[in-house]
Amino acid sequence: MRIANTVSQLQDFISERSGNGKKIAFVPTMGALHKGHISLINRAKEEADIVVCSIFVNPTQFTDPKDLEKYPRPLEHDIKMLDQAGTDVVFMPSVLEMYPEWPVPEKWDINLGQTEFLLEGAFRKGHYQGVTQIVKKLFDAVGPHIAYFGQKDFQQVLMIRKMVGLFNMPVEIISCPIVREDDGLAMSSRNIHLSAIERQNALILSKALQYVSDNQNERSFSALTQTAIEMINNADGVVLEYFTIADTQTLLPFNVSGNAVALVAAKVGNTRLIDNMLLG
Ligand code: AMP
Repeated sequence: MRIANTVSQLQDFISERSGNGKKIAFVPTMGALHKGHISLINRAKEEADIVVCSIFVNPTQFTDPKDLEKYPRPLEHDIKMLDQAGTDVVFMPSVLEMYPEWPVPEKWDINLGQTEFLLEGAFRKGHYQGVTQIVKKLFDAVGPHIAYFGQKDFQQVLMIRKMVGLFNMPVEIISCPIVREDDGLAMSSRNIHLSAIERQNALILSKALQYVSDNQNERSFSALTQTAIEMINNADGVVLEYFTIADTQTLLPFNVSGNAVALVAAKVGNTRLIDNMLLG
């Protein structure tokens, strides 16, 4: 596996390898890799010829400077995991490589529509501007035909599809299923911040989602939402931010037709977790 720290190293490697209509797949990450990330690499390997992964903790998508500072960065472990998974190249740029004027903010304000301001966007102001800004830069650097994202960050996939449409980018966006621990907890780089007790308390999020999924044909969505909220509010050490059953395209509260997804965000101790489950 090659390691590229600059856009030009990355592009030299890709152009060396990408002749004859080879398909380039891309998996962007912030590192602290787990089996959820590796599931994206595995899928990319099945469907493309060259697999590029990036590890970049993007400062512009963090609303809380403490969260950015304490974001885990186990680089050696990550490189080993990516190598074992058969990644062709990992791109690990510095902040200055991606934002040459840093810390002066670059102008970036695109119209992602009202969905930007719902759910995660309401709790993390400007988050999806930062996400789309870095993903656009990374797509420009890699030039992928196809890019893989996790359904775990459900709203993120919608926002990236929107950005790709706005810029007419020739890249296919694939959303991959959430990989969970055996007890149901959605894998996340942030889980390592959980103490043993918090980790146990955090299980209420996937339990509430599973409850809604299991009972979706028996009870109304509003009754299910109410019970799920009660379940989470009754759990020790968990502070609910939102629980909603929403339309999969708009993320507005689900209304009769279309497809539905249940989404949740909560703080467990000092760690903010999100999860979701498709219904129907
Ligand atoms: P992150 O490093 O958290 O930015 O995540 C990088 C990519 O991995 C994003 O597309 C995430 O949605 C995806 N991802 C994170 N956790 C999981 C998971 N448990 N299952 C599947 N994909 C995931």
